Amino acid sequence: MKRALITGITGQDGSYLAELLLEKGYEVYGLARAASWSQPNCASHLAGHVKILFGDLIEDLELAHVLNEAKPDEIYNLASQSRPGESWARAPETLEVNGLAAIKLFEAVRKHRPDARVYHASSSEMFGQSHSPRQDEETSFHPVNPYAAAKVYAHHMAAIYRDSYNLYITSGILFNHESERRPLHFLTQKVAYGAACAALGITDSPDLNERGRPIVEGGRLALGNLDTARDWGYAPDFVRAMWMILQQEKPTDFVIGTGKLHTLTELCEVAYQTVGCDWKKCVFSDPALVRPLEPGQILANPAKAKELLGWSPTVSFEEMVGRMVQAQLTRLEKLS
Ligand code: NDP
Repeated sequence: MKRALITGITGQDGSYLAELLLEKGYEVYGLARAASWSQPNCASHLAGHVKILFGDLIEDLELAHVLNEAKPDEIYNLASQSRPGESWARAPETLEVNGLAAIKLFEAVRKHRPDARVYHASSSEMFGQSHSPRQDEETSFHPVNPYAAAKVYAHHMAAIYRDSYNLYITSGILFNHESERRPLHFLTQKVAYGAACAALGITDSPDLNERGRPIVEGGRLALGNLDTARDWGYAPDFVRAMWMILQQEKPTDFVIGTGKLHTLTELCEVAYQTVGCDWKKCVFSDPALVRPLEPGQILANPAKAKELLGWSPTVSFEEMVGRMVQAQLTRLEKLS
């Protein structure tokens, strides 16, 4: 039986990945902060099926102890301060968990578990204001926020550790991927939530935004730049790619994305259409929510993943948005 360790198991990707690995017969260990594990989280339903080791990656965590306990064959390093917009307000913490903690993990692997295979979660945000209209494994990075800058650092260090010490460390440069498990402060989930509120006639939502106001207020949802475009995929497809990456004979980095671009306007259209509402009456662009510096066109060229891994997405943008809206409808109906 193979053993896997997932950092960030309480998050969206960690929870889907744990499910996938359990299905494949792995013994799954998760690293989680005690306070997060004791609250409802994305992996709560897996309690009893996964073994949780407690620790905070930016506190004095004894990684040697974690590796000796879990004895993993595969390590998936997903833990992160994962909100690029939020990283301005939490820049030092973002650098610590997204940058330094990754290097501490690579060092611990080198010393205590050198035969383990390591997947590290890099991000398409690293491309930032890219000069290329599509990005692949060779495209250079132009990060535009602290989140992305910290990810670039860890990405380079992953390659440096791989090449210097002959370790099996790979990075997946993943483009945006969403799901029913995204927290409400993420853009796609906010839109799904807004559509569900519109369908149920909720004008002042029970859930609040970062400013402590109802996410939907006076029947309207505030968003930033509606022309923002992203390559959005479905999270379970993306965690499958993570696993496939670690099954390759040689460690090498991969870009994972759908290769299709959608604007925020399109996202609103699809979400509100799902429930038969007109998004234009329910959504507005609030200048206060526009980021100081927006990434440029971030669009994956996933040709390498298709060719070497045989990976391609199975759930379309429209289907994913439909599932997210449906999940929010179910949740809001239960609340009322
Ligand atoms: P989530 O925000 O859902 O999960 C992040 C996880 O990291 C949580 O389990 C969180 O734990 C954990 N974490 C944060 N800080 C610490 C810490 N100091 N010590 C231990 N654990 C910590 O992110 P996703 O699942 O969406 O993303 C997984 C990874 O993939 C992240 O590295 C993200 O940056 C990267 N990525 C994600 C993309 C996406 O579109 N989803 C795109 C590209 C990259 P807690 O519950 O305690 O907060």
